[in-house]
Amino acid sequence: MDRYICKTCGVQYENSFGKQKECIICGEERQFISSNGQNWTTLESMIKEGKYKNTINIEHEGLYSINTSPSFGIGQTAYYIQDKDFNLLWDCISYIDEQTIKEIKDLGGIDAIALSHPHYYSSQVEWAEAFNAPIYIHEDDKEWVMRPSERIVFWSGESLELKEGIILHRIGGHFKGGTVLEWKNGDNQSGVLMTGDIIRVVADRSWVSFMYSYPNFIPLPAATVERISIRIKELKFARLYDAFHRVIKEEAKQSVQKSATRYMEALKGTLFNT
Ligand SMILES: [Zn+2]
Ligand SMILES: [Zn+2]
Repeated sequence: MDRYICKTCGVQYENSFGKQKECIICGEERQFISSNGQNWTTLESMIKEGKYKNTINIEHEGLYSINTSPSFGIGQTAYYIQDKDFNLLWDCISYIDEQTIKEIKDLGGIDAIALSHPHYYSSQVEWAEAFNAPIYIHEDDKEWVMRPSERIVFWSGESLELKEGIILHRIGGHFKGGTVLEWKNGDNQSGVLMTGDIIRVVADRSWVSFMYSYPNFIPLPAATVERISIRIKELKFARLYDAFHRVIKEEAKQSVQKSATRYMEALKGTLFNT
């Protein structure tokens, strides 16, 4: 089956989508059409090319990162969480091959897949089929699913506990259904927050930022950032992982709060003189 994958965002489409058209995800202001124009590939041709490889690395007990090299699409990291007898894939990547499937099956397979937002939907249905797992996506982002599947569970409301201590929270911002994952038992019970790019760790690793569009530098309103920071304050975590393998190793909760305050002051014009 020729299911086209956009080379810029890495999102796989249902095979009926025409090769000549523009990617819907890239065609709006939170992404971009490549300056070289729209380009498509398929998972089959990526495997055939033989140049891609996924690397699975342990981050700390119960947490693995999964990356494709050379980088493909947006180049995000997916994470694999093991908690007692429950294995979760947090966010997803486009490339998947027999070797990846074998390595993850050796680790215990995948019980569920959860997504932060549409930029990482990638080949999520391929992953769900390979591991016979459901995909959890907030219903507010339903319109951005380019390859429908019976395996997708559209959840609603503000929070969803997937398993004791593993909770999805819809905090919005970058996307209406923008979701973070609170893993209360992670990092020796100190708690871990997985943020995709709903919250991004910046160059100075003790700070984060919140954007409507990262590639086009469009900020979020102060009121939205304030609402996000109030929600995040209630969660249990000391460590934070974003989608680009940037990590705040300790006191991440304080980092989010001070970053939200700085961001709001910058927008209001009280942080500096211009
Ligand atoms: Zn795209
Ligand atoms: Zn994004």
